[in-house]
Amino acid sequence: KMVRCKIGRHRINTLSDVGVFMELRNIAIIAHVDHGKTTLVDELLKQSGVFRENQQVAERAMDSNDIERERGITILAKCTSVVWKDTRINIIDTPGHADFGGEVERILNMVDGAIVLVDASEGPLPQTKFVVSKALKQGLRPIVAINKIDRPDERHQDVLNDIFDLFANCDANDEQLDFPVLYGSGRNGWMAEDPAGPQESLAPLFDLVLRHVPPPKVDTGPTRMLATTLTADPFLGRILTGRITSGSIKPNQALKALHHDGSLVENFRVSKVLAFRGLEMTSVDLAEAGDIVAIAGMSEATVADTLCDPEVSEPLAAQPIDPPTLSMLF
Ligand code: GDP
Repeated sequence: KMVRCKIGRHRINTLSDVGVFMELRNIAIIAHVDHGKTTLVDELLKQSGVFRENQQVAERAMDSNDIERERGITILAKCTSVVWKDTRINIIDTPGHADFGGEVERILNMVDGAIVLVDASEGPLPQTKFVVSKALKQGLRPIVAINKIDRPDERHQDVLNDIFDLFANCDANDEQLDFPVLYGSGRNGWMAEDPAGPQESLAPLFDLVLRHVPPPKVDTGPTRMLATTLTADPFLGRILTGRITSGSIKPNQALKALHHDGSLVENFRVSKVLAFRGLEMTSVDLAEAGDIVAIAGMSEATVADTLCDPEVSEPLAAQPIDPPTLSMLF
């Protein structure tokens, strides 16, 4: 069990965890398959010091599909969390496949920024285009990372132009068109503003995320969280993941679930609150507004429902989940 103490605005867990941090960033990572998303996230984990030097990346951060299949569970969004300069960065994978009942929108709703990762030779491909158009529509201001610049056939200038055209074709506004760009190689562990400059580390990418992505908007008032993805765990049962919009959630707390039309789904008691720490999900004794967490304890609630304080009557605006999608989840 973690013990918490308050030192100013910092809250420090004196046991087990490295701490709950005052600063947060929630970002999505958008890439076409094979453009290097998994490799980049593994490197981000390594360089942010999540792994001790002699420790291996046991399971690739965003490649747990086999495990999911084996356990018969559906994890639709994968979240990795790294810490950089006392800021926790939650990185959410966006599925590249065709829309899945509003899933991409729901995932993008949890974040305040995005990294668009594009292969320096292949340029933006359909999966990137699809998710980028949704991200821009939701008002996000993505960071562009042109990856695999070590490829002999890299053509970063053309690729940059293609990305600019893609943004323009998606009706990006001036701010969105003025996107910051980094070049590099996730596999070789570096990103930089100058593709021909020194190839040092991923620090420029971390720093850019902290600078360019706003902290999560936090509303005041009672606890509310929009359930974004559903997982079934053999021990914990149903698990709903989402961003806490307001208030806080802790184990044992009484909550209710509201359907997006406002009708009551169920009253329930939270059995576990899981936060993302590196590649793992860790049980925590308190999660606060802004953070993306997974909650267990409900038996009926599902994606697009609002988990909230019993006093709340208005659900959060949700992209409703359509019946065919619902049937695919079970
Ligand atoms: P994902 O499908 O986007 O998660 O892509 P992966 O991270 O699995 O990478 C796909 C392939 O690209 C793998 O063979 C990687 O080794 C390779 N790759 C990843 N990053 C780089 C890079 O920076 N440069 C080069 N040349 N290859 C890379």
